[in-house]
Amino acid sequence: MDGIDWGNLGFGYLKTGVNVRSYWRNGRWEPLEVTGDENITIHMAATCLHYGQEAFEGLKAFRGKDGKVRIFRADENAKRMIRSAEYLRMQAPDEELFIDAVKTVVSRNEEFIPPYGTGASLYIRPLLIGTGAQVGVKPADEYMFLVFVTPVGPYYKSGFNPIRVIIDREHDRAAPHGTGHVKVGGNYAASLLSGDWGYGQGYSSVMYLDAKEKKYIDECGAANFYGIRDGAYITPKSSSVLPSITNMSLRRLAADMGLRVEERPVDVAELATFEEAGSCGTAAVISPVGSVYDPDSGVTYTFGDSTHAGPWSVKLYEALRGIQYGEREDPYGWNIVL
Ligand SMILES: *Cc1c(COP(=O)(O)O)cnc(C)c1O
Repeated sequence: MDGIDWGNLGFGYLKTGVNVRSYWRNGRWEPLEVTGDENITIHMAATCLHYGQEAFEGLKAFRGKDGKVRIFRADENAKRMIRSAEYLRMQAPDEELFIDAVKTVVSRNEEFIPPYGTGASLYIRPLLIGTGAQVGVKPADEYMFLVFVTPVGPYYKSGFNPIRVIIDREHDRAAPHGTGHVKVGGNYAASLLSGDWGYGQGYSSVMYLDAKEKKYIDECGAANFYGIRDGAYITPKSSSVLPSITNMSLRRLAADMGLRVEERPVDVAELATFEEAGSCGTAAVISPVGSVYDPDSGVTYTFGDSTHAGPWSVKLYEALRGIQYGEREDPYGWNIVL
């Protein structure tokens, strides 16, 4: 695409050609519509506006070394959106409709997929909202499923550098039997104050502990957390952690590299024992964590030399990136190759 400076893209919205939509009306999903319109028109009493019937997904398409386009693990995003919709009592697109919409929007915006070698990719944002009018608190009878794309730059402009994190004991993102495990906008609204609290003190991200006991690690901002110790990849298991597809993929790669994988409650005191730490998600794959500050005790936990990513984090990052860009074989069948 003329006029796009691929090497200097950030993580923001850039207008592309088309988006795709389907409406649930009269008990069925209507055929997918392809449109250049960036706006949506919905009823003022739509349940997404008043009662938070909203779920979303985030995934990426990559222009590979061989020129082919690869979409990473869209089937897992489809399954997760179905789980999110179930919890919010929304009608969900089935896996077939979800994948069809994703493939359509990516192929119809082919000129917006950044070239190989720029480190950039095409971010894909599926959105599901209750559009039916309701004033009483109950699920809508109409839904809109929409998918748009936008090219995004490499997360790391200045290299794969560790971030500084602060533990937030003042705010909770999610409760143990609440919505933390599903990808819904309400969780994000609930994390904005906390994020600002952390940035205001000079940290890139906040760490959430379990809301009940404040004893176990949940997540790092809107990313999962892992630590490496004695040949083990250790990541929190908690009812208020969002099951990250990146983390799921890293666990598989870690196991195949010979690391022991432990998915279990991780006591915050274990921070003192990790050789490496990282946060993971679609946006960056891995953000190495250099240090975690606990304002309660005044202790700063550091990992490795805290200015360079540890060797396992680098290896895991390169393995996943390599599969996404078609530089390495994909023995797991994770990519949809267009
Ligand atoms: C989306 C998200 C993640 C990362 O999930 P991926 O599937 O790896 O992108 C982690 N935590 C939260 C709270 C999220 O919403």
